[in-house]
Amino acid sequence: MENDKKDMNDNILVVNNLKKYYPVSRLSFGTKAFVKAVDDVSLSIKRGTTMGLVGESGCGKTTIGRTILRLHEVTGGQVLFDGIDLAKIPTRKLRKMRPQMQMIFQDPYSSLSPRLPIGEIIGEAVRDHKIVPKSEYRQYIVKVMKDCGLQPQYFYRYPHEFSGGQRQRISIARAVALKPRFIICDEPVSALDVSIQSQIINLMMDLQEQFGYTYLFISHDLSVVEHISDTIGVMYLGSMVETGDKKLVFSNPMHPYTKALLSAVPVSDPDIKMNRIILKGDIPSPVNPPSGCKFRTRCQSCMKICSEKVPVLKEYEKGHSVACHLYSEN
Ligand code: SF4
Repeated sequence: MENDKKDMNDNILVVNNLKKYYPVSRLSFGTKAFVKAVDDVSLSIKRGTTMGLVGESGCGKTTIGRTILRLHEVTGGQVLFDGIDLAKIPTRKLRKMRPQMQMIFQDPYSSLSPRLPIGEIIGEAVRDHKIVPKSEYRQYIVKVMKDCGLQPQYFYRYPHEFSGGQRQRISIARAVALKPRFIICDEPVSALDVSIQSQIINLMMDLQEQFGYTYLFISHDLSVVEHISDTIGVMYLGSMVETGDKKLVFSNPMHPYTKALLSAVPVSDPDIKMNRIILKGDIPSPVNPPSGCKFRTRCQSCMKICSEKVPVLKEYEKGHSVACHLYSEN
């Protein structure tokens, strides 16, 4: 009990058995079928740290981000933000809490209104939520812009006048202007050139150091999350297959899927030979996933038990858990 309380205090976010299912019609049988976009996922994030959530496109990582913030309604499970279950609270209370939990979207081109100058884009919600007194509004927005590497004279300029990297700075400024404590970053650099990607990641890390933000950083690219994350979660077809401290996951990847993802990360030394593991086939349909382990149709280590029994996420070493029968005791 003591330990549970301590965890709750350390962790700003605790997600327990989260499910997000979308109904689809199955015409031939008349029965209901569901896309299990997020299927029984649990995770926790300590205050002031970053969890990197990785997986191929379609694995449910974006859905989990949106469901945590209740941009999509929760099908089942708990989302405890500072001990408050976001899945259960009334919409009015959720709206009041919104400034504390922000999201930075992938596409800096479509996530900014083309009709508003950037001062207004950044400041609109600041005014709505009365983040600062009216008299300090302009000064505050200029300070946020400066913190995010945007010059004050850009205040009246429009998004189309900026490059992709600057637009992402505007998106970040819009999020941090609300003085959040938790920010979900959904592929925030994948639409940018590699040189710009590192600038944006460095900006996010600087802001975290200065203001103590907690990030859930969603990406399909392990090399990007390696730089910014303290802990890593690897998702496959709506399930968490491996999670743990970044150093443990990178130095000792255990799940065959994590090994395949890591083998594709480019190395800067041309003398190092890459032993890339090529995954066969596509991700199976989330409406009708394989029995047992969902990864078994693409796994080179598949055994008989893998089609019969669903592997459960278990702690293998302190701070490192994996869901795979290769590490089961029986
Ligand atoms: Fe491969 Fe079996 Fe482990 Fe799934 S449970 S990843 S199929 S070895």
